[in-house]
Amino acid sequence: MKRFATAMLAGVALSLTLSAAAHAEGKIIGVSWSNFQEERWKTDEAAMKAAIEGAGNTYISADAQSSAAKQLTDVEALISQGANALIILAQDASAIGPAVENAVAEGIPVVGYDRLIENADAFYLTFDNKEVGRMQARAVFEVKPEGNYAFIKGSSADPNADFLFSGQMEVLKEAIDSGAIKNVGEAYTDGWLPANAQRNMEQILTQNNNEVDAVVASNDGTAGGVVAALEAQGLAGSVPVSGQDGDHAALNRVALGTQTVSVWKDARELGKAAAEIANQLSDGTAMDAVEGAMKWSDGPNGVEMNAIFLSPNPITRDNLNEVIDAGWVSKDVVCQGV
Ligand code: BGC
Repeated sequence: MKRFATAMLAGVALSLTLSAAAHAEGKIIGVSWSNFQEERWKTDEAAMKAAIEGAGNTYISADAQSSAAKQLTDVEALISQGANALIILAQDASAIGPAVENAVAEGIPVVGYDRLIENADAFYLTFDNKEVGRMQARAVFEVKPEGNYAFIKGSSADPNADFLFSGQMEVLKEAIDSGAIKNVGEAYTDGWLPANAQRNMEQILTQNNNEVDAVVASNDGTAGGVVAALEAQGLAGSVPVSGQDGDHAALNRVALGTQTVSVWKDARELGKAAAEIANQLSDGTAMDAVEGAMKWSDGPNGVEMNAIFLSPNPITRDNLNEVIDAGWVSKDVVCQGV
C-alpha cells in the first residue's frame, strides 16, 4: 500500500514536471507574410518576433512572395507545424478567406495584420488607414490647392487601397466639386509594385501632356515610382507627391524636396501589438477580451469584428526630426545629398 502511494505521488510529480515543461515551451505563433518587397515588413517582423519570444513563445513564419496561392499553402503549413495562433498579412483579401475559415474551424485564432480579412472570427489590427489617406491628401492639397491631380492607388486586392482612397477623397471632395482641382487620372498599382506605379504615372503624364500638378500616391514604394516618372520629365520637386510608411528612401526624398509627405506608421508598435494579441489569444483569451479591443464594422461587407487601430503621423520637411528622434532612421540617411 505504502509502495503504491509512493508510486502515485511520483506519478503526480512526473505529470507536474511534464506540464511545467509544456508551459515553459510556450505556444507557437505562426506568421504568414505577403512579401517583403516593402522595407517596412522587416521592421514589423523584428518587433513581432521579439515580443513573441519575449513571452516565451515560438515564432514561425512563411513568406508568400506576392502569391495569393502560395499564401494558402503557407497557412496550411503553419497549422501543420502546430501553430496555436496565426497572424496573417493578406496578399489578397478574398483569396485568403478559405485558409482563415480552416484555421477558425480548427480553433486556431487569427489576427488579420495591417490589412483587413473580413471574418467575424478574426481579429483586426491595423493603423487607421482612412486617416492615412486624409493625411496624404491634406499635405498635398496644402501645397497645391488647385490644378490637375493624379491618384496612384494601392493594390486592388488589398482593402487598404480603398480605405486610403476614400480618406483622400473626403479631404478633396469639396475642391473637386467646386472645380478647383480635377482628377485627371487614377490607377490601382498591381501588387503595390513601384515599377507598376511608375508605368501608371508615365501613362497619366502622357495622357495629360505632362499637365499634372499634384500626385496623391498611396505609399512610399509607389511614390518612388511616381518620382522616377516625374524626374524623367524634369518635373520632380515641382509636383507634390504623397506616400506612407517612413521608408528611408522616402524620408530622404522628403528632405530633398521631391516627396511632400510620408505618413509614418511606426511598424515597431504594430508588430509588438500583434504579438501581444496573438500571445493572449493563444492562451485562450477571447477576442473581445483582448485589452483595447473595440467593435468595428466599416469593412466592405459590414461584418462586425474586434479591432484595434493605431494612429499614423504625417512627416513633412518641417517635422523630419520626429522620425530621427524616435530612433526610426539616422540623420545621415535622411539628409543624404541635401
Ligand atoms: C500597408 C502599407 C504598405 C502597403 C504595401 C499596405 O497594406 O498598409 O503600409 O506600404 O500595404 O506593402
